[in-house]
Amino acid sequence: MQFNILTIFPEVLAPYCGASIIGRAQKKKLLKINIVNIRDFAADKHHKTDDEPFGGGPGMVMLAQPIYDCLAALKLPRKRRVILTSPQGRPWTQKLAREMAAEKNITVICGHYEGVDERIMPLVTDEISIGDYVLTGGELPALVLLDSVARMLPGVVGKEESIINETFYDGVSFDHPHYTRPANFRGLKVPEVLLNGNHKAINEWRKKMAEAKRNQVRPEL
Ligand code: SAM
Repeated sequence: MQFNILTIFPEVLAPYCGASIIGRAQKKKLLKINIVNIRDFAADKHHKTDDEPFGGGPGMVMLAQPIYDCLAALKLPRKRRVILTSPQGRPWTQKLAREMAAEKNITVICGHYEGVDERIMPLVTDEISIGDYVLTGGELPALVLLDSVARMLPGVVGKEESIINETFYDGVSFDHPHYTRPANFRGLKVPEVLLNGNHKAINEWRKKMAEAKRNQVRPEL
């Protein structure tokens, strides 16, 4: 999968993309991340990528032209997803991440300031929000999208099983609580059932705990 991220702050994205599971996925060639600096496509000598809003009001608006030129230069395949990050977009979910993981070419546009000139919308296939709050820019949302999609690609996460049992895998389930060594940490003991090797009992306990937590914190599910 090729994952393009269009941003005016590439330095924010590079360290995350090079580290841990996402970094390894690229080394294993399971994923190719292409961070593109929108500023490189600015038409004027000052590399301007934003301007004042028509109609007045506070803040700046990102120009359409550098984004059009940037997307043209990428020569995207016909089958592609071009995502605009926006608080007004469709909510991002595990289900949508799984749907996107089946794609071969995803491009994410990071907005900044007041947002992006509305005239980029003909280029956009999906407008996505990562939650009902407003961030300063689309870089964190882009990383959220990248990370949640990348870990669904075969071979990216060590054991396929860890993905299958995860919270929201089927849209409603929660993961169970996890414990590791020592069995007694400052008087806090690991539940006895996890120590006895009875896998049927362990699975039943885990299912019960996962359901109890979900019903407590997300009863609407
Ligand atoms: N004026 C916009 C509004 O009120 O809807 C907010 C713009 S925000 C300050 C700047 C950029 O951050 C957005 O264009 C978008 O790319 C990104 N952004 C902020 N919050 C986001 C969210 N919850 N989900 C996805 N992207 C977000």
